[in-house]
Amino acid sequence: MEKRHIAILGATGSIGTQTLDVVRQHPDLFEVELLTAGSNAALLVAEAREFNPAAVVICNESRYDEVAEALRDTDVKVFTGTQSMCDLVAAEAVDIVVAAMVGFSGLRPTVAALKAGKAVALANKETLVAAGPIVMDLSRRCHAPILPVDSEHSAIFQCLLAAGSNKVKTLHLTASGGPFRGWPREHIALARKEDALKHPNWSMGAKITIDSATMMNKGFEVIEACRLFDVTPEEVHVVVHPESVIHSMIEFEDGAVLAQLGCPDMRVPIQFALAFPERFPLKGEKLDFARIRRLTFEEPDREKFPCLGLAFEAVRRGGNIPCAMNAANEAAVKAYLEDRIRFYDISEVIAGTMAETPFIGEPSLDDIFATNEAAYAAAEEKIARK
Ligand code: NAD
Ligand code: MG
Repeated sequence: MEKRHIAILGATGSIGTQTLDVVRQHPDLFEVELLTAGSNAALLVAEAREFNPAAVVICNESRYDEVAEALRDTDVKVFTGTQSMCDLVAAEAVDIVVAAMVGFSGLRPTVAALKAGKAVALANKETLVAAGPIVMDLSRRCHAPILPVDSEHSAIFQCLLAAGSNKVKTLHLTASGGPFRGWPREHIALARKEDALKHPNWSMGAKITIDSATMMNKGFEVIEACRLFDVTPEEVHVVVHPESVIHSMIEFEDGAVLAQLGCPDMRVPIQFALAFPERFPLKGEKLDFARIRRLTFEEPDREKFPCLGLAFEAVRRGGNIPCAMNAANEAAVKAYLEDRIRFYDISEVIAGTMAETPFIGEPSLDDIFATNEAAYAAAEEKIARK
């Protein structure tokens, strides 16, 4: 494989640092061109010193001086602000953009990367939730492939490679069930962020960990699957699989099922996206079937986890409704992490915001930005009344 030059947006987060670990293991395959971070100046500086990219962006302007000063003795160019991130992903030298920012903030730079014809290794699922049809259309028109990083979608993508032209009947998305699986509803209602942040199988950023606890993460992933693989929500089935060994499955019309398995380690789907279609060794734990012994499955409990149903409703309604849902979720999760609301307030805030959002059937990108802003504000008003 010819060396690939990569830009990592959100390089200081869980996916960003694991992406750098993949690069660290394969200096002959990958070279870092650009690293960006929100506010974590110290880690961005350390990463820049180790990987020597052409440029870094610290999005939070108040941290710019600190980063510029710390990298003064290097060749690394230092920028700040979202716009510079959008300009730099389009640089000639960049082959692949890893979209690993969190939330709606990932949309603008992902759009910029696609418009510049760059391959996008997409972790930032909120981009596909908020603006899926627009983003997929850009990918097609600009010949800029989107390679899934989310483990379930990477699994389905890998299974589909073996499907050839055969029709796939159902995508089975596996879910760990999160930290509250099996808890009584009354206990979940009182759960604090400290409980929600204890994910059983994956170590991830705070927002996605709360999304996993509410199962909104799985709801997002249903929408992500509909967009990436061009299927209807009726063709996506969510199954709880607490061991997180099967990352997802596809089922054909004859009932045959293909699954992709592995230890829960995000570096596997990250590396697959970066090196696609090739595979290379990767250090890390490997499956030991005799030790696992059994894999279990159950249906999700939609009453305890209403966010899953809200996501199905949002994708069925379509238009700007998934965007409004995402914005309300972002506001509600932030409030929950700040101890301003309780667990079931999250789904109530989202449901109320979705119900009030003026419907736009075929939103433009401007409509999406406007919907995001309005729904976020509407959700904040509801949160303030809680
Ligand atoms: P994280 O919170 O650990 O990291 C987020 C990164 O984005 C950080 O580098 C942060 O500095 C940057 N960032 C945050 N807000 C920003 C802003 N406004 N402007 C610029 N940069 C900003 O999150 P994560 O767990 O790495 O998740 C990143 C994305 O990947 C999310 O969309 C998440 O849903 C998705 N994802 C994560 C995992 C996982 O295992 N962590 C798995 C699948 C998908
Ligand atoms: Mg996932």
